[in-house]
Amino acid sequence: MLLRGTDALKEAAAAGHALPGFVAYNLETVQGLTAAAEAAGRPVIIRAGSGPFKHAGREALIRLALDAAARSTAPLGVHLDHGRDLDEITVCLEAGYTSVMVDGSHLPFVENIAVTKEAVRRARDHGAWVEAELGALPGDEDVSTDGVAQSTAMTDPQQAAEFVAATGVDALAVAVGNVHGFTKHPVRLDLEWLAAIHEAVPVPLVLHGASGLPVEELHGALARGVAKVNVNAELRRACLEATRVTLPSALPGSDVVSLWAAGRDAVRDAALEVIGRLSPRPAGADA
Ligand SMILES: [Zn+2]
Repeated sequence: MLLRGTDALKEAAAAGHALPGFVAYNLETVQGLTAAAEAAGRPVIIRAGSGPFKHAGREALIRLALDAAARSTAPLGVHLDHGRDLDEITVCLEAGYTSVMVDGSHLPFVENIAVTKEAVRRARDHGAWVEAELGALPGDEDVSTDGVAQSTAMTDPQQAAEFVAATGVDALAVAVGNVHGFTKHPVRLDLEWLAAIHEAVPVPLVLHGASGLPVEELHGALARGVAKVNVNAELRRACLEATRVTLPSALPGSDVVSLWAAGRDAVRDAALEVIGRLSPRPAGADA
């Protein structure tokens, strides 16, 4: 079923756990993510676009993701990731997306406010919620690159408060040392900085670039208002690894389906592991 509204997000923020946001690139990733959500019985947000639109085609990926979410026994959100084009945001809203991210983080502060405000206005007409970003996150969403340095452009807590009040946004993606994709050295989050942002803004926070993040850093973030965590590179790597292992047995019979199935099942298993990491922990577990 489609996961509409921000209740699950707010609940997660209050309880110190988080919804995972996973990227769908094609049919197999949509199937893998849906299977993981159903196996875990937990809500999952499928990030269908805007980068992956270039691969799958916008209309095709929109249909695939929405159809899978509607038929799923698990609550699935369908979300536009890093939307920089208001027209594209409108296309997704009209198609029935449950949320969109408007990414004006590359713009000057006042322009980021203006584009975010407009996205919020459009989303309200469609019953969707909006995530925005303040602060700069290094790295690429779809390909991990070596030598990416940790961000120095951290989200300013007071500016974040001003931004949320001016735009009416429902969730805020923050830069607190996080990086898109895998990095050479383990990423350290500035958890004190994150706590200051959490204190300053009334909406749930979003952590992008959580692949490979040490689990104590991750749980530190969940305890400080982060209620949506984007993980992508871990799933891509699992998919590629399964493909590599399966290739020798697939080649003799030109069995391409077994290759795709292996990738799909690896995405499911990797997603399940992440869901477990973000789910409510038993009482007495470390914060
Ligand atoms: Zn991102």
